Amino acid sequence: MTNKGRRYGMKIGFVGWRGMVGSVLRERMHEEGDFEYLPDRIFFSTSNVGSQGPPVAGEQPLEDANSITALRKCDIIVTCQGSEWTSRTYPQLRKRGWKGIWLDTASALRMEKNSVIVLDPLNREMIKEGLKSGIKTFVGGNCTVSLMLMACHGLFKKNLVEWINSDTYQAASGAGARYMQELIKQMVSISEVSNPVADALELDRAVIERLRSPDFPTESFGVPLACSLIPWIDRAVKAGQMGQTKEEWKGFAEANKILGTKTPIPIGGICVRIGAMRCHSQALLIKLKNDIPLNEITKIIADANEWVRVVPNKEETTIDQLTPGAVSGTLTIAIGRLHKARMGSTYLRAFTVGDQLLWGAAEPIRRALRIILGTL
Ligand code: NAP
Repeated sequence: MTNKGRRYGMKIGFVGWRGMVGSVLRERMHEEGDFEYLPDRIFFSTSNVGSQGPPVAGEQPLEDANSITALRKCDIIVTCQGSEWTSRTYPQLRKRGWKGIWLDTASALRMEKNSVIVLDPLNREMIKEGLKSGIKTFVGGNCTVSLMLMACHGLFKKNLVEWINSDTYQAASGAGARYMQELIKQMVSISEVSNPVADALELDRAVIERLRSPDFPTESFGVPLACSLIPWIDRAVKAGQMGQTKEEWKGFAEANKILGTKTPIPIGGICVRIGAMRCHSQALLIKLKNDIPLNEITKIIADANEWVRVVPNKEETTIDQLTPGAVSGTLTIAIGRLHKARMGSTYLRAFTVGDQLLWGAAEPIRRALRIILGTL
């Protein structure tokens, strides 16, 4: 452990560490040596109090994530547990006078006045200003929002965006660990009935029959996702929100909060769940404020941050590099299919793919923790 690490004698509590986002967060923290800065750590559980935690917890048994008294011991709480737990726990903690820093992946507190949504390549100054001004609640953004902002960072930086339409192709992991498991269960169930030598029509009938069978595993999604898709994510937002789902509404609300826009940029689109495992993809139509040549746009996008990678708009490169299969498990934010749309020379088309568990969830939280500790 470095001396710098020792200086931070803070108690850090981890909640939700065994879920999808929590597991990826721990993995990344190991890779980056972050635990070196956090000698005094406590792992909590909502379901397995007293049992053995992850290896990094050492001998310490898991503490109770539903005990306000136990949580109050922490100077910083990092939670990947979910909105239901946050909504139940956070107000009680604050009511009991807890003044620590709350770092959360769930959406519950994102739009609170006294919270900052963290995505430091775009809003590092906002995070630092927040810390200076006494903000104590920091929240990771919605995955599609963070990935879209990372991909289009250069265009926002240069204030070139009039509006964006983003239609999404979102992975099962966005819904959590159980949903990824169910997607594979559905695939296995389909493979059991599908005879690969059958002719295509026969095969199709067998698959449809299986999808519609009452035995088909749909406890989590409610409907088949494998060999299908679900054009609805999260609940409907209240009247006045133009028929959007909450996931679609977040595209506008959270993106503008992260960007700190005075005049909000209209952002919309239809969010669709597809059978990818952990990469979200988005087809973008971007209305630019000015007519800028495509080679300049490409450079602006490519130079914006160290993770964005422009994929040339060619068949070989696109099918090789601009897919969930290629991007999954990496910090790369791939963006390609860049071309001007038929609507006019200020309309830009693009397609972007990013790992929603990395830059879409765990990475902004990991980095925010380092910023809070003053080590990034
Ligand atoms: P998750 O995988 O469902 O895990 C959340 C908690 O569920 C775990 O910490 C665990 O708590 C419990 N759990 C129950 N069954 C489990 C199982 N089979 N495997 C692992 N854990 C299980 O949720 P998540 O996807 O990590 O999301 C956590 C929060 O982050 C949510 O609010 C989500 O909206 C938000 N978020 C998620 C993503 C994403 O990419 N998934 C992106 C951005 C934000 P105990 O150990 O206490 O039982």
